[in-house]
Amino acid sequence: MTCDQARELVPFYAARSLPEFEGAALIAHVVGCESCQKDLVETMRLGHELRRAFAAVPGLPEGTWLSVVANTVGAPLLRVDLGDDLAGFSVDVGAVRSGVPITGRLSVLGREVPILRI
Ligand SMILES: [Zn+2]
Repeated sequence: MTCDQARELVPFYAARSLPEFEGAALIAHVVGCESCQKDLVETMRLGHELRRAFAAVPGLPEGTWLSVVANTVGAPLLRVDLGDDLAGFSVDVGAVRSGVPITGRLSVLGREVPILRI
């Protein structure tokens, strides 16, 4: 593994999102490379400090998410439309009035198919 390859993997290792085999390859490199070792230690220290800082941030006031839902009912959240020229394919994700606010549907050639309901 080169130093450039190692430096690309360091943030993922520090975030604990690197697959085990890549992590082992990274550590094998870092053990013998002082520069990458310093980079890994600094990145992990920064990650630790960020997690600690975010843990100290107070949570949202009670009722915030209910207010968000109440204010977004009926509002479209996302629309991906590939256009009618390409077989009329579109995907909508939007808020609805029936309880949980997110639904998705797929429209192909004018036929709508529900694909998501959260
Ligand atoms: Zn290196």
